[in-house]
Amino acid sequence: MSQIEQVEMEHRLRILRDAMARSNVGITAVAPGDMMRYLAGYASYPDERLCLLLISADKVAVVVPALNAAEWQTHTTLPLYTWADAEGPGAALRAALSSLEVSPLRRLAVDGEMRADFLLHLLEATGNPEVITLAALGAPLRLCKSPSEIALLQAAAAQADRAMQAAIEACQPGVTEAQVAWAAEQAFRMDGADYVCFTLVASGPNSAFPHHRSGQRTLQRGDAVIIDIGASLNHYKSDITRVVYLGEPPLVFLRTYDAVLQANEQARAAVKPGVTAASVDRAARVVLEAAGCAGHFVHRTGHGLGLSVHEPPWIMAGNEQLLEEGMVFSIEPGVYFPGQFGIRIEDIVVVTASGARTLTGFDRRLVVKA
Ligand code: ZN
Ligand code: ZN
Repeated sequence: MSQIEQVEMEHRLRILRDAMARSNVGITAVAPGDMMRYLAGYASYPDERLCLLLISADKVAVVVPALNAAEWQTHTTLPLYTWADAEGPGAALRAALSSLEVSPLRRLAVDGEMRADFLLHLLEATGNPEVITLAALGAPLRLCKSPSEIALLQAAAAQADRAMQAAIEACQPGVTEAQVAWAAEQAFRMDGADYVCFTLVASGPNSAFPHHRSGQRTLQRGDAVIIDIGASLNHYKSDITRVVYLGEPPLVFLRTYDAVLQANEQARAAVKPGVTAASVDRAARVVLEAAGCAGHFVHRTGHGLGLSVHEPPWIMAGNEQLLEEGMVFSIEPGVYFPGQFGIRIEDIVVVTASGARTLTGFDRRLVVKA
């Protein structure tokens, strides 16, 4: 771990520990996943073997399956408590907990994504304290990205731009949605992505389903095709959506596309420190109301993006959270007409002192392929 990373890790632990102190939480337990990576600088492969990062006011301990110990040691210097398959995790978990010297433990905070069997082990080993979720602690973890995290998200966004180009090139009458998805997937992998998170290709009437799964439908002339793709690059995620039209788009489609594009632009223009997340959602929605298709905009305007594809802040009505410099989220207004077509245009922005800086660079104009 570099010195900058070390300083950043210590800062993250300080934010967590301040929140733990305010809520009288003695220990926070985190299972393998994005939060573990954020707080420990590493996360092992999540499987059924118990693995927990345990954090108290002044100590850290990690319970690790023995087969993963060597890999942990190449990434961190945290104290490890290992257990072998044949013996089970009980003794290692108890030893790790007692090393934290928190007694009595009255309140425990747990990562909300933890497996239920991990939690049951933990409750047994700690004597059933009161349990709250890490989210309920209200620690502002992962919400504002550091300059180094923003650089990683920028690199991921640039990679998604290149994969979008590959997907659009693959779009033509006669190929299946799955084949277009595969073109994006290959582009991501050949470009060094850790893994591909999703490649959603929704053609023709399928484009009216916001979360369509790419399937065996063959693209035809007269189809709108929504392409929504994202991958992980150095653990940070990308997410971008563009629309292709095969053939000559009818006027109603062009008008609707313009409205969605304006909604995307107006929402991005509304982003700045100190405004609410709800006001950004509103900026997109008023444009679609004026165009007469507000009823077809059936989801929130955006979601935070970082180590996870979906994380706070949520850009939606009712969220009075104030935007701050360093927050990164999507702006993705969309409209869906069942049986006909859908349109969504998605970009990723970072909040800066002077407004939104857009990380995704791909041309937002409708791609028309004859
Ligand atoms: Zn998306
Ligand atoms: Zn998204």
